[in-house]
Amino acid sequence: MIYTDTRDSSVKADFRTAVMGGMNQATGGLYIPVEFPKLDKALLNKDPAPSFRDVAFNMAKPYVEGEIPDNDLAAIIADAYPFQPKVVPADAISYIMELFHGPTCAFKDFGARFMARTMSYFNRNEDTPLHILVATSGDTGSAVGSAFHNVPGLDVTILYPDGKISPLQEKQLSTFTGNVRALKVKGTFDDCQKLVKTAFTDNELRGKLRLSSANSINIARLLPQSFYYMYSALTVRNRSAMDNKIQDPAIIMVVPSGNFGNLTSGLIAREMGAPIAGFVAATNTNKTIPDWIATGDYNARPSVETYANAMDVGAPSNYERIKAMYTLDQVRELFASYWLDNDGIKDAIKSCNDKTGYIIDPHGAIGWQAWDDIRSGAMEKLIAGEKNDWNKPGLTPNVPSWGNEVVKKNAVGVILETASPAKFGSIVTDAIGKEPPMPDRLEAVMRLPDNAIPMENDYNQFKDWLIANL
Ligand SMILES: *Cc1c(COP(=O)(O)O)cnc(C)c1O
Repeated sequence: MIYTDTRDSSVKADFRTAVMGGMNQATGGLYIPVEFPKLDKALLNKDPAPSFRDVAFNMAKPYVEGEIPDNDLAAIIADAYPFQPKVVPADAISYIMELFHGPTCAFKDFGARFMARTMSYFNRNEDTPLHILVATSGDTGSAVGSAFHNVPGLDVTILYPDGKISPLQEKQLSTFTGNVRALKVKGTFDDCQKLVKTAFTDNELRGKLRLSSANSINIARLLPQSFYYMYSALTVRNRSAMDNKIQDPAIIMVVPSGNFGNLTSGLIAREMGAPIAGFVAATNTNKTIPDWIATGDYNARPSVETYANAMDVGAPSNYERIKAMYTLDQVRELFASYWLDNDGIKDAIKSCNDKTGYIIDPHGAIGWQAWDDIRSGAMEKLIAGEKNDWNKPGLTPNVPSWGNEVVKKNAVGVILETASPAKFGSIVTDAIGKEPPMPDRLEAVMRLPDNAIPMENDYNQFKDWLIANL
């Protein structure tokens, strides 16, 4: 596969360059495949639906063609995914796509584990390790740390702001041993990011250590997230008639979004032939994308803190990829978009539990509420010309091409549950009056000793530490 650049379509790179580079330093643009090949019809039409690993292998294959042979790719997939997504019906026309069955209990495990193993593969003939530096405000760091832990040839240093992340997040970051370690920096997330960025531009340091990044813009994190959209869409298509007597439903993927990597992966799955009619882009108060869809003006802004804090992004990096793939009019046809404030998030957790018995996390809850409003009259009103004021929580004024399918009761919603509710226990308990069940692996991590290394917010000290210890 050839990869090009969102800012310069004359750029041509192979998969290895795109993965190891992360972004194109020369243009500041993001890598994107030049095409999205359709999956084989025989696989798409299989009933029962193919297994998750089968889907993963067949979807990944064209993107690594000529660079990773089939047997190596199959080994990467098998090692990355000892777990899989689960599709759980919440009611007759609503499904929850549970993406939290990986080691850190959030969907980022799917992308980070594939990226770690492809980087290790490309590093296999080097005799020195590749040093990954990551700044994190919470969830990304644990997914990356866990994904790279004990992966050969790779070494990870995570920087996080001391005292500014939750106790559970801190445990998930700071208890690794071996090739993964955490530095707790006396500063903010921005300070951590600055230390990392300065290291990447420090030629003296780069002369001593091979450095790389592992952030969410890497194409090796984006592509594997498309696997679970395909798998879930095929699964829902095949079981829908039994659940709700709808033969060939319009499947709507409802995606709680921050940086919009997850949603972009859904677009890739649809391009590759997944039976997906459209998407709901659901955000918290950081509604840069809903505002863009409503007004046509894109205004990145500083982020604000919300209960769905993994979505607190004011300048979503994958906007650039969405723009490279579609025009604004096409986006308005494909997406409904919806946002909720903090009060709405709490009410949504409660409403989901009251109506279905399902305990949902604050991120998934925004998706649930979006879908519940859409199928309970909001889309019908919109089509009738009654537009919501998009400055208030709710749907933006565009009518997507699939809107009528909802009104005709021919649509089903699939809500992406991006994290285990146990990771946001206090908010969930506040909303529903009982604690969400704690997965064993989260309980286990809380008991591990903390190995975080204290670090001043000072570049020279950070650099000296790297040189002395890596
Ligand atoms: C990262 C994250 C999101 C947002 O995903 P994007 O790809 O950034 O849009 C949503 N929910 C949870 C729990 C996350 O960790």
